[in-house]
Amino acid sequence: MADPLGLGGFGVTLRTMLSKPVTESYPEQKEPTAERYHGRHQLNRYADGLEKCIGCELCAWSCPADAIYVEGADNTEEERYSPGERYGRVYQINYLRCIGCGLCVEACPTRALTMTNEYEMADGERAELIYDKDHLLAPLNPGEEPPPHAMRPGTSAADYYRGEVDS
Ligand code: SF4
Ligand code: SF4
Repeated sequence: MADPLGLGGFGVTLRTMLSKPVTESYPEQKEPTAERYHGRHQLNRYADGLEKCIGCELCAWSCPADAIYVEGADNTEEERYSPGERYGRVYQINYLRCIGCGLCVEACPTRALTMTNEYEMADGERAELIYDKDHLLAPLNPGEEPPPHAMRPGTSAADYYRGEVDS
């Protein structure tokens, strides 16, 4: 229908003026993220504090943005960081590159790598957005001992991988 005076347009303006604002007062008011929001990564531990990462680099090879750098190394009986032969000696994620796709999490064979809901990662320095292992490792829960240390007496690496070593 013709609208020579353009009143239809005013209708849109009026409706918008009277409707509830959709903007958020961030950062004063922080809204919770969606439950499965892809935020900062986390490198997980077993219940005794040993690291789940085995330094296999599958996460790095799966990353379409080339955002992950891993260097594996051998565990020894004197210096053990994870069950089994290898651990991630160097682990870095470059958040200047990461697109939050989660393919690295899907590639990880030990569930060492997951994503948290944390999104407040802005920084004025580019170098600060390359997170290393210290940034990414899960904090120690009560009862967890920081590596290096031995596996639980009487257990094998397979027991850890099957989730049979708990707190
Ligand atoms: S979430 Fe995607 S882009 Fe980011 S590190 Fe993992 S695979 Fe790479
Ligand atoms: S996080 Fe997972 S996929 Fe990446 S190096 Fe460690 S064990 Fe391998």
